[in-house]
Amino acid sequence: MKVKKKTFKNGDNIDAIGLGTWKSDPGKVGDAVKTALKVGYRHIDGAAVYGNEKEVGSALQESISEFDINREDVWITSKLWNTAHKSEDVVPALKQTLSDLQLDYLDLYLMHWPIAFKPGLKGFPQSDDDYLSLDEVPLIETWEAMLEAKNEGLIKHAGVSNFSIKKLKDLSSKTDHAPEMNQIELHPYLQQNDMLSYCNDNNILVTAYSPLGSSDRPDALKADNEPSLLENETIHEIAEKHDATPAQVLIKWAVERDTIVIPKSTNAGRIEENLKSAELNLDDEDMEKIKSLDMHYRYLDGKVFETESDMYRDVFDEQG
Ligand code: NDP
Repeated sequence: MKVKKKTFKNGDNIDAIGLGTWKSDPGKVGDAVKTALKVGYRHIDGAAVYGNEKEVGSALQESISEFDINREDVWITSKLWNTAHKSEDVVPALKQTLSDLQLDYLDLYLMHWPIAFKPGLKGFPQSDDDYLSLDEVPLIETWEAMLEAKNEGLIKHAGVSNFSIKKLKDLSSKTDHAPEMNQIELHPYLQQNDMLSYCNDNNILVTAYSPLGSSDRPDALKADNEPSLLENETIHEIAEKHDATPAQVLIKWAVERDTIVIPKSTNAGRIEENLKSAELNLDDEDMEKIKSLDMHYRYLDGKVFETESDMYRDVFDEQG
């Protein structure tokens, strides 16, 4: 399967379709990774906080030997969790991830959120006391520690996630090495046009997360009556027209817009179906129809980070 690639400034290529692993349960995520690598994925997206990197690591090592794949041919992304933003905590957190994944380098390391929790916090914050403010740990402190990890050869590329344009601009103004990637929620209901043009103008690649609407999120992270992307009528019509599935339309739409996209599945059939979206050809009329679906709707609305003092109220300022 020929999957489009996106290229970093230094010439490194990343497959535009990768496998997401958030909510991929223990006992299932390893098989999902193995299936993905077997059917042709060469890009896996993970994070320390997903709690499954050990199983991902074992599956990766098994696949490399069983399917005769070179480590260098697989793109592995992970993310620094909010509890490790202090400069001295970044490299140890990264080393834990590397050890869990049984790797000696990551292709891409992202700052997961522009939000800092107290080191050692388990789970999500319950009150202001569980956070550190960005005055206490500025994002540039965390970023410089990530660049240090890059200098040490522990990661090939450094980027961020859930950053607004404002935060990208602010961080870029304080460093000679701006983020190479911003991973954000992006799908037809949240098309992020301003973000795409800012990133395009500034040589920042964009990865689209929750491209299928993330319907397996825990109820605590869901709004009542949220709109379903996979059941959208227009998406269904376009799928029928091309003899494809709604998920394939959503994935190919992201690729057509020059973003990288990381649908999550632990179902072998759907893992393969999602990659096969690479073979679908959406025409201008399809793209126009999908363009009209934007409603600036965010599934991951950041409410989980609301505090009494509203310390992180503006986490999504200007995004969307
Ligand atoms: P997705 O939008 O990828 O949706 C996943 C859901 O879609 C699951 O219920 C899955 O079920 C289902 N699904 C997958 N393929 C199909 C298909 N072909 N047809 C019908 N249903 C399908 O949600 P995510 O929120 O998981 O986003 C994808 C990835 O992005 C994450 O896994 C993670 O790696 C990353 N992410 C990053 C974030 C960040 O803060 N940086 C935040 C959120 C996500 P099943 O598994 O049963 O197939």
